[in-house]
Amino acid sequence: MRYRIPLLFAIAILATFFGACATVPETGRSQLLIVSPAQETQLGFQEFEKLKKSTPISKDAAANAQLQRVGSRIAAVAPLPNAHWEFVLFDKSDTPNAFCLPGGKVGVFSGILPITHDDAGLATVIGHEVAHAVARHGAERMSQDTAFQVLEELALGRSSQASRAVIQQAYGLGFALPHSRQQELEADHLGVLYMARAGYPPREALGFWKRFAEYNAKKGGGKQVEFLSTHPLDEQRIRQIEGLIPQAEMEYRKP
Ligand SMILES: [Zn+2]
Repeated sequence: MRYRIPLLFAIAILATFFGACATVPETGRSQLLIVSPAQETQLGFQEFEKLKKSTPISKDAAANAQLQRVGSRIAAVAPLPNAHWEFVLFDKSDTPNAFCLPGGKVGVFSGILPITHDDAGLATVIGHEVAHAVARHGAERMSQDTAFQVLEELALGRSSQASRAVIQQAYGLGFALPHSRQQELEADHLGVLYMARAGYPPREALGFWKRFAEYNAKKGGGKQVEFLSTHPLDEQRIRQIEGLIPQAEMEYRKP
């Protein structure tokens, strides 16, 4: 305990010296990142293993096959070097949610499938989540706020409940709002390009987000669902995707 404060200072100084300003691919936005890709990937692998132990995995053969089919096509076009891709369908019908951890660990909760409807709808969701990972939004969030707890524990090679909470929030697994509106729109932007390059008609993204908006409206005012609270649905999202469709259609590769 007596080393706690000096260590935090050391981390802060290191972060200042080595903290990099990175650029998000394709959108060109600058971002502050003080967590390295290797650290981030290690966190992703750890969290995914914990989730697989703590959350039931779906035995639905058709839904699992769909996830592998769509996931592998998005993975083939997503610029996530050194990814160890894995797509797991978690059996949680009350949870319309999905995520992609650093290192290409993708989790989809079965509650999203009635809204995705088909392969193109699922490609919209996976493209969006993979885009969050490509743009390193979780690391950006950790860099922006309470990263010190996590960095300290990374430095010491252990993890605690507190650091797990920060990690889960940063990567959208918690109940807080993990992504800013700017990050959401950026994930939509990149995600619609990935789905087009993977051979899914980009216009189908509009169908998914509109169905999602309807779902949101029906739920309205009731208890918050993670995916809803973390994915604000608004006219801005739909308008941006509509604006990107001409570019995405030019990149559409018929499978
Ligand atoms: Zn998102």
